[in-house]
Amino acid sequence: MSTMVNFEKCSESESSRLNALKSLLEKIKLPFKVADNVGIKLHWGEIGNKNFLHPMYAREIVKWLKKNGLHPFIFDTTVLYSGGRRNGNESLKTAAKHGFTEDYLDCTVRIGDGLDGKNVIDLPAGFKHFDTVQAGNVVQEADGFVIFSHFKGHMEAAFGGAIKNISMGFASRAQKQRMHADAKPTLNEKSCIKCGECVEVCPTGAASIEGFNFPIYDLVRCIGCAQCIAMCPEAALQIIWNTDIKIFQEKLVETAAAVWKLINKKSVVINALIDIVAECDCLPGNHRKISEDKGFIGTYHPIVADEESIKLIGENSINQAHPHIPWQRQFDYAREIGF
Ligand code: SF4
Ligand code: SF4
Repeated sequence: MSTMVNFEKCSESESSRLNALKSLLEKIKLPFKVADNVGIKLHWGEIGNKNFLHPMYAREIVKWLKKNGLHPFIFDTTVLYSGGRRNGNESLKTAAKHGFTEDYLDCTVRIGDGLDGKNVIDLPAGFKHFDTVQAGNVVQEADGFVIFSHFKGHMEAAFGGAIKNISMGFASRAQKQRMHADAKPTLNEKSCIKCGECVEVCPTGAASIEGFNFPIYDLVRCIGCAQCIAMCPEAALQIIWNTDIKIFQEKLVETAAAVWKLINKKSVVINALIDIVAECDCLPGNHRKISEDKGFIGTYHPIVADEESIKLIGENSINQAHPHIPWQRQFDYAREIGF
């Protein structure tokens, strides 16, 4: 694992952030060949999310790659739940709505697993949870990658940065499902206002509500996508883990490790430690800040990027936002499996 880390700090102003990113990019040595097609993996934000990274940062990365004779494109993959990214066409509309247009970025905007989510590949893994891992075919279509991640909190992983961007971010919908399968909802009736939002967003019909009764959840039909939990306006739903919560952390790491085996020699990893909020860019809303802006980290390994990010914002910020999640398992397990 290369431990080389560059860091450029910034304040909360737009110009300070952009200058920090520009300075960071100047310091990064590119592991690409001239004319390579380089995929910039990022998250353009779920519909209604207010904290996703502004496209000006992606545009800066595009400019930098082009200046170095490369052919960049940006991409994300389709997701499990309803919202604005469930299939490729919807997701591209969401990207455009959030300013990630080809005109603005000066590069192609793609869906890594195809518009129908079926352009996927099975990668060898050989780990205890996954013998193979299914990812968007972009993993073998591009010559190289810039893993550009917004570092912030996450309701199942405690934090979301480079590991999660490579894991959930490259995973096919089926692989996302395999990782999430254990997170099912349980209702606290005292908090529920019977609004029906959980039923609206449930992609499988597992959540239902009749008349003025409380909603019910068919845990056999439930695929554990946690969308109802995320969207409940009263925080009346919590995750019941069918298995040890550590298993989700391990599955997340296994998926990232399998993808990383294929791309590790041709990837740059950049974490943006700005707008550091408690929840993921997958969730609508303007989420609570858990740390002030720190800056941008550039390195060549996702584990290094995320460990350095946590050092910068302090473990307490993560622990206070998500007190019961054993996120440290991600790092321990990564070492155990030689990630
Ligand atoms: S979204 Fe939340 S508050 Fe609304 S019905 Fe479902 S559990 Fe109750
Ligand atoms: S009930 Fe299950 S499938 Fe439906 S939204 Fe909730 S977690 Fe997803």
